Amino acid sequence: MSDVEVAAALGTALGESPVWDVDDHVLHLVDIYDHTILRLRPDDGSVATLPVDGTPSAIALRQQGGYIAAVDLGFVTIGTDGSLEPIATVPTGDRMNDGKCDPRGRFLAGTMDHAERPGGAGLYQLDPDGEVTELLGDVALSNGLDWSPSGQILYYVDTSLERIDRFDYDVDTGRIEGRRPFADLRDAPGRPDGLTVDADGGVWVAVARAGRVQRYDPGGHLDQVIEFPTAHVTSCTFGGTALDELYVTSSRDLLPKSARERDPIAGAVFVVTDLGVHGRPPSRCSR
Ligand code: CA
Repeated sequence: MSDVEVAAALGTALGESPVWDVDDHVLHLVDIYDHTILRLRPDDGSVATLPVDGTPSAIALRQQGGYIAAVDLGFVTIGTDGSLEPIATVPTGDRMNDGKCDPRGRFLAGTMDHAERPGGAGLYQLDPDGEVTELLGDVALSNGLDWSPSGQILYYVDTSLERIDRFDYDVDTGRIEGRRPFADLRDAPGRPDGLTVDADGGVWVAVARAGRVQRYDPGGHLDQVIEFPTAHVTSCTFGGTALDELYVTSSRDLLPKSARERDPIAGAVFVVTDLGVHGRPPSRCSR
């Protein structure tokens, strides 16, 4: 039986993009609305805050230290001191949203259109040489993504579709093809948001508005539902020394103001243990 606890009552306005650093045993995440990167050390509960000059929506660790990040409408590097260097901009969307590093060190991140108009947003890939490729152009609210353990399947959420899709992913070229539905969440409460894939190929998705994280087996069948004491869970990733703890971010500000008093733990980072599975170390960006 899995166990849900508060790892840190951070009160994030919009916590997202959790990344576990397997060397330092630190959970990195962003608070999009607070314009910060947070570093949570679960061992002692300490939290360091790094202000970002812009709106950071997703981060990945770089091989040489610091971060690759999606900020405003572009890709940047962010040093451990917070220094920000632009790399490239993207053409579509109101701001960038979720992103992650592929098995070869490319960084993928999408954008969102606030009105969720199809085609108002896209999914983009930053190659190590700084070149940006549009992978998808018919997006409304680009969100969680991760790869199968082989790297040959990309799981992807456009939240407006309330579905997890899968693509064939060519790790050598970074190209995608063969889009098809993997899991349909339209008939269930909430909307799919961030996701992570475990070492057995199970897909864990945070279901915003429903206060749930759900696991789908590699065949797309729902096989675990974890309930949280706040509605707006946003994303998840595995961490801990054995990569067997699931860290889950959440949001305070996505709740209506009237609901915040009844939901004092909103914005916390949660940790789930005794899941019986473990994750994989995150890929680092080679840019
Ligand atoms: Ca998200």
